[in-house]
Amino acid sequence: ARTAIIAGNWKMHYGPRMASSFALEITPALGKLLNEYPYLLCILCPPAISLSAVREVLDALLFERIELGAQNMHFEEKGAFTGEISPLMVRELCTTVILGHSERRTYFGESDELVNRKAQAALNHGLRPIVCVGERLEEHEAGKTEAVIRSQVQKSLANFRSERACDVVIAYEPVWAIGTGKACPGEDAQRTIHLIRELYADMYGGETANAVRILYGGSVTSANIAEYVAQADIDGALVGGASLKSDFVEIVRKSI
Ligand code: 13P
Repeated sequence: ARTAIIAGNWKMHYGPRMASSFALEITPALGKLLNEYPYLLCILCPPAISLSAVREVLDALLFERIELGAQNMHFEEKGAFTGEISPLMVRELCTTVILGHSERRTYFGESDELVNRKAQAALNHGLRPIVCVGERLEEHEAGKTEAVIRSQVQKSLANFRSERACDVVIAYEPVWAIGTGKACPGEDAQRTIHLIRELYADMYGGETANAVRILYGGSVTSANIAEYVAQADIDGALVGGASLKSDFVEIVRKSI
């Protein structure tokens, strides 16, 4: 069985002070839930500037199964790349990095090729990449979901070393469901996520595809999380807005 993941993408919310106090607020209850249930991993992804502050909270409370993730990074280890953070830097504090989020693709022009390069760098540095894919509203309405997902998966997730391919986490986030309150129905998400697993099997073999975790993201709350984790191919969620509130603890509770 695949260990489920509930990850909170805080996006551009909570600087170091707020991040620290929010982490202090939710981690005791999260830690207690995770101690009772070992088949779930929780990953908090604050803004880069707040990673250290949240790291301190987690270290002080000794909750190992609440991990830390960055929301983006550069593929180079160091150099003249003003404003960027490197895999080595992320690795000092985090286990995980979100890559190719639709907001990175839309507002910062990230291509599948760039996302792939970053994902390779993450794996080479012992980081777990959460690689995001998902179709836009107009693509969804035009019935192009499958074609868009196929192309994103084949390009963003290409050329991993075979022994590393199972360490990747994939997040299916239909763009029309992000921040809109219009969550993708569980059965539709299951269908697309099953397709992603089949595409991954074509690329890396059935065993790897069977081991890889695939999450759903887009307007997940404590009211709908059960609908997703009940699906055969869905291994958890990447949560945006609801991860900024104590509802995140409820999401984790209801995904057990
Ligand atoms: P919301 O949960 O706010 O819809 O955001 C989803 C998301 O983009 C997580 O990465």
